[in-house]
Amino acid sequence: MFFCAVFCQTKNKSAITKKTDYKIFVLNDIRREGNTDILISPNADTIAKYIPSGSFPLAINAFLVQQNGENFLFDTGLGINLVGNLKSHGVLPEQISKIFITHCHGDHIGGLLNEGEIVFPHAEILINRIEYNYWTQEGNELFAQVANRYKEKIKLFDLDENRSENDLLYSDIQPVAAYGHTPGHTMYLIGTEENQTLVWGDLTHVIPLQMPHPEQSVTYDVNPQQAAETRQRIFKFLSENHIKVAGMHLPLPAFGFVTKGKSIGYEFNSYKKQGNCKSNKVR
Ligand SMILES: [Zn+2]
Repeated sequence: MFFCAVFCQTKNKSAITKKTDYKIFVLNDIRREGNTDILISPNADTIAKYIPSGSFPLAINAFLVQQNGENFLFDTGLGINLVGNLKSHGVLPEQISKIFITHCHGDHIGGLLNEGEIVFPHAEILINRIEYNYWTQEGNELFAQVANRYKEKIKLFDLDENRSENDLLYSDIQPVAAYGHTPGHTMYLIGTEENQTLVWGDLTHVIPLQMPHPEQSVTYDVNPQQAAETRQRIFKFLSENHIKVAGMHLPLPAFGFVTKGKSIGYEFNSYKKQGNCKSNKVR
């Protein structure tokens, strides 16, 4: 399978990459209650069972990773609290050197601009070529603005099974295809084997329901069937490998582990510790 090929290859690569410690912090833009309206063809009994109140906690997050004295961002949220959140970690926008984009919805690239102006003057913006090409064809206004303002800074990358060792984006940060939510939706696996975090982007939006029922897609998924297949495959892999995840719409603390569900599907176990990830194996 493509996913397995990339992920397994990634794990092998990680094993031979020099071990580098890193710190990861959530940068929360918004916390709110989500509505079940976003579910595609929802089953009333399933909603009543898993979301009895009719709403569930939702967030919009980006993540700051500090590694080898550099500051990286993973997505930028809407940009509402991004710069303030960075300052609370002692980081100025000019000090961000790379921004890894999971996909180009507005709640992920919005923070790249402030009233049309560049927010991160020294950052390289890394985007999967498939994702970039899709939004170029879609004619989305915000994307077009970002592409124009950052055109000297955008670095497109390809994901396929023939990638060479030289295609490592940076040290031990590996892109992993998770297509479906958008055509080029990409996760990033940070760290080495004992100390990994998977930034999974928008793999989920409705945690209480999509964990037991990963086949349930949402209206935001460009290809709902592919999104569901991707979710199932990745949940299975994560439940078997105990890798910490960080999610853009996970309610705070926005980190956790996926385990097999007691009766069906999977469960999400929140993990409060952030910052230095030396001891993220909490099993
Ligand atoms: Zn999103």
